[in-house]
Amino acid sequence: MNQSETQPNASATEHFDVIIIGAGISGIDAAYHLKKQCPTKRFAVLENQQSYGGTWLTHKYPGIRSDSDLFTFGYKWKPWTSAPIASAEEILSYLDSALDEEALRQYIRFGQTVVKASWNSDNKCWQITSKVGADGQQSHFSCNFLWMCQGYYQHKKGYTPDWPNMDQFEGDIIHPQTWPEGYNYTDKDILVIGSGATAATLVPAIAEKSAHVTMLQRSPTYFFPAPNRNELADTLRELDIPDAWTHEIVRKKILLEQQQLTERCVTDPESVRVELLTAAREYLGDDYDIDTHFTPSYRPWRQRLAFVPDGDLFKGIKAGKASVVTDEIDTFTSAGVKLKSGRELRADTIITATGFDLSVLGDIEFVIDGKSLDFADTWTYRGIMYSGIPNMAWVFGYFRASWTLRADLISEFVCRLLSFMDANKSTVVTPCLRPQDQDMPALPFVDADNFNPGYLARSMHLLPKQGDHAPWVFKQDFYAEQTDIPAADLQDGSLLYE
Ligand SMILES: Cc1cc2nc3c(=O)[nH]c(=O)nc-3n(C[C@H](O)[C@H](O)[C@H](O)COP(=O)(O)OP(=O)(O)OC[C@H]3O[C@@H](n4cnc5c(N)ncnc54)[C@H](O)[C@@H]3O)c2cc1C
Repeated sequence: MNQSETQPNASATEHFDVIIIGAGISGIDAAYHLKKQCPTKRFAVLENQQSYGGTWLTHKYPGIRSDSDLFTFGYKWKPWTSAPIASAEEILSYLDSALDEEALRQYIRFGQTVVKASWNSDNKCWQITSKVGADGQQSHFSCNFLWMCQGYYQHKKGYTPDWPNMDQFEGDIIHPQTWPEGYNYTDKDILVIGSGATAATLVPAIAEKSAHVTMLQRSPTYFFPAPNRNELADTLRELDIPDAWTHEIVRKKILLEQQQLTERCVTDPESVRVELLTAAREYLGDDYDIDTHFTPSYRPWRQRLAFVPDGDLFKGIKAGKASVVTDEIDTFTSAGVKLKSGRELRADTIITATGFDLSVLGDIEFVIDGKSLDFADTWTYRGIMYSGIPNMAWVFGYFRASWTLRADLISEFVCRLLSFMDANKSTVVTPCLRPQDQDMPALPFVDADNFNPGYLARSMHLLPKQGDHAPWVFKQDFYAEQTDIPAADLQDGSLLYE
């Protein structure tokens, strides 16, 4: 069936029990669980782009890959059978076979940009308006339950700070999120601004063909170099153990090791720091200035550790194809940038690997019974639902553990909640503060002392509040939530049913 055949008549309203917004990793996970756990529910997935994959479709810069291992970043229900760190292409191919194997493709409506979600208490459902195609023709849907799987950042373009005189630079300025297809960087001097996971991926990927790549960072990042293989998985595969078992066993082992590492980052950050710096030194050699370029001031794990498979970033530096400068930009010039130290860096192309902008609720206008919703006024129920917003869940994954671990937990929770409501003949569920919750302190959605990347710091005021006790907390801790969420009491008074 071609795309246009799947679009509803523009003037008609098509009704579903559940509408999922977004066909990235989370939306496909939601569709899988819904189909398996709630087989009688009629649902559709509305996706803005023309294909599935979300993040892994949007980003096309050279070398694009995961920094999580795919045993945990892949689904609990679909074995990962290759090397732990995967390219965007491999992730898309994994999602492609998930869609085929589970017959999920039929539920997705591509090219539907949802612009408005309006809850009406009289008919107890959401009215969804989406725009289709370049002329912005509107489609109308309604649903009982809205499952937000739209991710957390703007897909259209990334975040670029406003440096002085950017317009004077005579070369190209590119943000990795909007990488021009086929961009020719052969024999060019490239300046990459930033040192997060994107920069760590891009720099070795373009080092070979370009004349030289300089990674300019304001402050260093912790990198974690390790071979891109999992020995246990290799052994189990050699023994012809079924893929599903290998997936489960390796997943459990990785989760245990990550838990131990996270605990050590809290109890003994100094030893973790020394280990990471020693690993970097092994690649870079004794005479390299690790103190300046690879020793962050924050404790390990406060920001996502950037994984460097096979130490490729360090190898590029050691080979002289790439270098690191730790300094701040004073101004752009016609030939590159001038730094606060007075040094000038010349470049043919400047790549701003400076992150993204948070998108709260997919930039959709939310209205509840005619009143515009300010998401920042709400309290989060377990980082899944929001006070005063009926029949809605949002999949927000983990920052430091794989996102998908939480997508799986939320999917199971939502299906359990929907089944519970059916069994009790309820049609509406709304999180609501109980009398004992009224005086809770209002804390930020994410604890900045625990995790503090730029895109959250810039936009925390737009996000919901959390309290200081369950179920009004968003723990960002898989090890606690893997038991807390499945055991959540649906009748503790914080969820009101009609
Ligand atoms: C470059 C990069 C690398 C990353 N690597 C990792 C990693 O290794 N491990 C990890 O755990 N996390 C990683 N992340 C975080 C990553 O975004 C998530 O892990 C995961 O891919 C998010 O999946 P998602 O489906 O929730 O959201 P997304 O991938 O953001 O997909 C959301 C989808 O919803 C659609 N959408 C949004 N708004 C609307 C709307 N209004 N109407 C219709 N459709 C809409 C979008 O088009 C998109 O297809 C990375 C992020 C980036 C940017």
